Amino acid sequence: MLSTAVPMEIKNPENVVLDHKEIYNGIIARLHVDTIQLPSGNKAIREVMLHPGGVVAVPVLEDGRVLLIRQFRYPLRKYILELPAGKLDHGLSPQDTIALEIEEECGFRAAAIDYQCSFYTSPGISNEIIHFFIARGLSPVAQSLQEGEHITVEALTLDECLSKMETGEIADGKTILGILWYLKKLNVK
Ligand SMILES: [Mg+2]
Repeated sequence: MLSTAVPMEIKNPENVVLDHKEIYNGIIARLHVDTIQLPSGNKAIREVMLHPGGVVAVPVLEDGRVLLIRQFRYPLRKYILELPAGKLDHGLSPQDTIALEIEEECGFRAAAIDYQCSFYTSPGISNEIIHFFIARGLSPVAQSLQEGEHITVEALTLDECLSKMETGEIADGKTILGILWYLKKLNVK
């Protein structure tokens, strides 16, 4: 997993916090607005959305196709194509969380789930970190969507994924990273 520690030799240039406000403490997100002092002495505002972190996976079928979900996303007011993913809010490890998400969202159980990397989704405004896995050895189980999840599952070839990235039909950041990472892994072998 990615270390969140700041290396000792790099001094934090924004460690003088003059004012700290918690604007919102919600189910998923907390929003903080801090006033800080820059090294010049000038003040600046830092808006921070604290997030519990999440997981995402490329689930690979025996025939090489990958599973994506078409999911309604309220902030966008539309359905988008994404890899299965979820938040770290069950008290489970990242690996157990993504195993559960693949079962619940896609209706498949994975025999092997291999950790690949972790990445920050939007470090200018949030501490959200996503842990990424490749899942293989899939066998069907019952899909179990929660209320408020509007999801259908699609199996796509990698060529289909790439062309949907070109057209913009796949425009979710973690999904683009996951597909390209998986392609790179295949080509390295
Ligand atoms: Mg999800």
